[in-house]
Amino acid sequence: MKCVTCAEAEYVHEARDLPSTRGRETVLHGVMVDHCPACGDEPFRVE
Ligand SMILES: [Zn+2]
Repeated sequence: MKCVTCAEAEYVHEARDLPSTRGRETVLHGVMVDHCPACGDEPFRVE
């Protein structure tokens, strides 16, 4: 799927460690996110 922001590149599936937004100092490990290698857009980040 092409990036909807810049249309320069395909999104890349990548596992990330993301800080939780639930108010505690919790890190979510291995969350799969799509990101664009061209502009860094992350349209499908899951909270
Ligand atoms: Zn992009």
